Amino acid sequence: MKCTKCDREAVMHAAYSGVHLCSEHFLASVERRVKRRVREDGLLSDEATPDEPETWVIGLSGGKDSVVLTRILHETFADDPRVKLVGLTIHEGIAGYRDRSLDACVELSEELGIRHEVVTYEGEFGIRMDDVVEDDPEEMAACAYCGVFRRDVLSRYADELGADKLLTGHNLDDEAQSALMNFLEGDLVQMAKHFEASLGGFEERTDQSAFVPRAKPLRDVPEKEVALYAHLAELPVHMAECPHSSEAYRGEIQRLLYGLEENHPGTRHSIMAGYEELAGLLAGEYGEERTDLVDCERCGSTTTGAVCRKCSLLAALEAV
Ligand code: SF4
Repeated sequence: MKCTKCDREAVMHAAYSGVHLCSEHFLASVERRVKRRVREDGLLSDEATPDEPETWVIGLSGGKDSVVLTRILHETFADDPRVKLVGLTIHEGIAGYRDRSLDACVELSEELGIRHEVVTYEGEFGIRMDDVVEDDPEEMAACAYCGVFRRDVLSRYADELGADKLLTGHNLDDEAQSALMNFLEGDLVQMAKHFEASLGGFEERTDQSAFVPRAKPLRDVPEKEVALYAHLAELPVHMAECPHSSEAYRGEIQRLLYGLEENHPGTRHSIMAGYEELAGLLAGEYGEERTDLVDCERCGSTTTGAVCRKCSLLAALEAV
């Protein structure tokens, strides 16, 4: 099959739009979608100047999503002195997994010439996820612990690195899965939080000044296209999945969405279009509920109770 835009052979077919694209036009199409998202979300503040640039910290895991995001942002802003990119890698202490993806992060950062920081759970909390999974004092899935620790590290280090924005590599599939899970759980407050945390443009969000604003510039690009981009651009990517990544419910939703997308191309896009609008309305409705933020009495991080979730999990682990 020929490319829809030129005479070269197509390397992909996007059923949701009907186009066939060759390698060159496909790479350009992914880059265009990321740039458009950056523009539409107002990611770069009007106040950023060459003398006072914005610092964008990217959660760089070494997987395809964060590597592709970092590469495209670097290409886009390499000659723009108003933006400084910093890669932040979190090492959870999962044997045989993170060490190899860390190599991909180091290789990419060196190739692009961007600052790269590594933070370990062991150094921060004195724990490794391998031990947490074994002790499991709360009888939860590994990701339930890991997600709490990751959020804490990301937001503290985003602050420490002077981040104006914290960027993550969530793709269209990730976002459509989260949206559908929130729908199916009937969790309106979570939808409002999702919007406040990372959807919509920055101007549409209500004041969340306790946190570094987050953004997901890859959220219009389907997962398979991110993987193809990484392959065609020959990026250093660690493809293996974390051994604990089988979050049962998300996996079920993922399979459901694969089937829907196959039979009804465009489903993920339409879910996100409607969801974003609804979540924005809900943010207006429930945003006020989030003004009761206080400092955790143990670590001082922003939370809604006396002790934050991270400190209570660490206490449970210490008691084992
Ligand atoms: Fe942590 Fe779960 Fe991600 Fe593994 S899949 S790194 S345990 S959040």
